[in-house]
Formats: sequence, C-alpha cells, structure tokens
Amino acid sequence: MRIETLTVHAGHQPDPATGAVTPPIYLTTTFARDAKGELPHGFIYARSDNPNRRDLERALAALEGGETALAFASGMAATAAVFQSMLPGEHVIAPQDAYYGTAKLLREVMGGWGLASTLVDMTDPHAVARAVTPHTRLVWIETPSNPTLAVTDIARVAAIARAAGARCVCDNTWATPLLQRPLALGCDVVMHSTTKYLGGHSDLTGGALVLPADDEWAARLRTQQQLGGGVPSAFDCWLLMRGIRSLAWRMRGHCENAARVAGFLATHAAVDVVHYPGLASDPGHAVAARQMTAFGGMLSVEVKGGAPAALEVVRRVRLFTPATSLGGTESLIEHRASVEGPDSLTPPGLLRLSIGLEHADDLIGDLDQALRGAAATRS
Ligand SMILES: *Cc1c(COP(=O)(O)O)cnc(C)c1O
Repeated sequence: MRIETLTVHAGHQPDPATGAVTPPIYLTTTFARDAKGELPHGFIYARSDNPNRRDLERALAALEGGETALAFASGMAATAAVFQSMLPGEHVIAPQDAYYGTAKLLREVMGGWGLASTLVDMTDPHAVARAVTPHTRLVWIETPSNPTLAVTDIARVAAIARAAGARCVCDNTWATPLLQRPLALGCDVVMHSTTKYLGGHSDLTGGALVLPADDEWAARLRTQQQLGGGVPSAFDCWLLMRGIRSLAWRMRGHCENAARVAGFLATHAAVDVVHYPGLASDPGHAVAARQMTAFGGMLSVEVKGGAPAALEVVRRVRLFTPATSLGGTESLIEHRASVEGPDSLTPPGLLRLSIGLEHADDLIGDLDQALRGAAATRS
C-alpha cells in the first residue's frame, strides 16, 4: 500500500462498540476485568496503554515501515527514553547541530548518568568514523538539520554505526515518513517530534519511536515508556491521528511552497545565502535527492546586514508569525541566534522559516516587502 493510503487508513477502523467512523476519545484511566478476572481487550491502566494510543502506534509503525511504535508525550520524552535505555559508560555520537534539546539532554542530564557523548559534523562520514570508540553504542542522526538544513547521508552513517556494533537512530521530524524512510536506509529506530508535521496544526505535543522489530531493545524502550511515564494523553493521540490523515497532502503543499520561497529568496538582493536542500546549489542537494522524495517545508536564509537586518525583517513581516516551532499550517519565522543565546554558532543574520500552507505568492510578497523595508532602513 502507498503511504498516502496508509496515512488515511493505518490504525483506523470503525469503533467496534458503536460503528462510529471517527473513533471516540477513551477518557478512562482504568479498564474493567471480566467475570474470569481477565482483561478482555488487553488494557489495564492508561499509563501502560490506551485504545487511542494503540491505534496511533499502529499508524506510526505503518508509516515508517516498522514493526512496532511507541508514542510519547513529547519528542524529548522519546529521545530521553532512548538515552535512558543505555548503560553508564556507553558512548553516543551525535551531530554538532543536533536539536538543542537533544544536545543539552546529552550534556546536562545523561553526562551525569555516565553516558559519554561526542558531537561531530555528521555531513562528513569520516568525522563520524573517527569519533567511534570501543564504547560507542549509539549514533544519533538528524537530517535535514536545524537551522542550516545540513544533510547527513543516512545509509553511510548507519553502515558506520553497524560496523562499530552501535545502533543508529534517526530524528526524522523535519522530513517526516512522507519524504524519508530511515529504517529502509539501515537505521535501528526512527524518532519523531510529532508536535511538528505529523500533528501538523500546532495544537499538540507528542513524540514517537518506531522500530523495525518487536525485539529485546523494543521491549526495553517500552518499559521506559510505561515506567518513565512520559506518555501522551488519549486526546493528544486522537488529535495526532486526525493530523496524520492529511499528512501526505499537507507535505505536498509545504514542499511546493518552500521550493518557491527558496527559489525567490535565492535571487533576492537583500539575501546572502538560502539554506534549502532542494536548491541545486545547496551542499546537501545530491545526498538529499538520493534519500528524500522531496525537500521539505523548512528553510533558512541569511540576510545581508547581520542580526540587526534579520531582526528588522522579523518586525516587518505580516503573514509570518514570529514564533518558535514548525510544521503547522501557518508560516513561522524565527531569528535563531537570539533564541539560542550567546554560545550560539548560528550565523547572526540567519532566519529560520517554517513554510505553511498559505499561497506561495502571498508568502513571497510578504518576505519581499519585509526584506526591502529592512534594507531601506539600513541605507
Ligand atoms: C521539536 C523537535 C524536537 C523536540 O520535540 P518536542 O516535541 O518539542 O519535545 C526534537 N527534534 C527536532 C528535530 C525537533 O524539531
């Protein structure tokens, strides 16, 4: 079955109790035993499992081509479960431009737990190979990366991890399973912040892990999910199922709009660089073209005139909302260096754009007036 069909059907069936085509939200914390003292539907307590979560996990596994999935209360809860399934003394390799929460969790929490980590430029497979130690048990990939859309060769890095006896995780939040299927490229687990494109409407927080087999490691991660307790509510599972139904068509719109906006910005007089793997000139283009079916809805742009010019653009946009996060129907803009603080390595003139589902001409018009206005203020 094609992925568009899976987004609509996976995990969905008419409610067995009522025939409702759209499932109810099971707002219950506990489940009754039958006359024999058994649990007829396999549910016992909502932290362990819930009907809405079970449907969602089936859908997520199907979308990534996996065997099993685990839903969490946030992307970070899913990430934490992976790190907490590891042992003190083990070593993780992660990208130097990993999502800031991932890098901070490794440094500030997992470091104290005895998990060592090395951050490398993951667009260079040799740098990954050089960072391997006898204790390396996990290689964490995030591609395209935040905020410069750097592209990692998933199959190559997964092969390096395998040769080192390490598992390979791919944070597939930005690409979504519509554009990139890391399990098919050799990864052992896919991680998602479902808060972003999978939810798609900026109205829920969630995370997920998808694995190719329901093996011993999957069981360990499930224990972490159920006892760590970072589980999503029935309502958030329901909202996410609703979001996933339109994922395929939303992603088409995000990709189409982002390609148009990137093409426009690439020739704009007030712009230095556009980071978008869909541009033929982008350093990640060749690898992205090989491992992605389209180039996504995220891009970043370095404005001439550095931070003051970039901040002036943010003040002048009317359609783009200045806000963090991504993947919703509305376009967002963010000056990353201000958010990341004084240690940030992000270029000062960089703006990150989450391209929404408005008409591309309106988005282009809005960016054009803001860039021109900001440039006029400078001169
Ligand atoms: C947002 C995000 C996360 C963290 O997810 P939360 O749902 O905010 O906890 C992790 N990775 C990437 C790439 C993200 O964009």
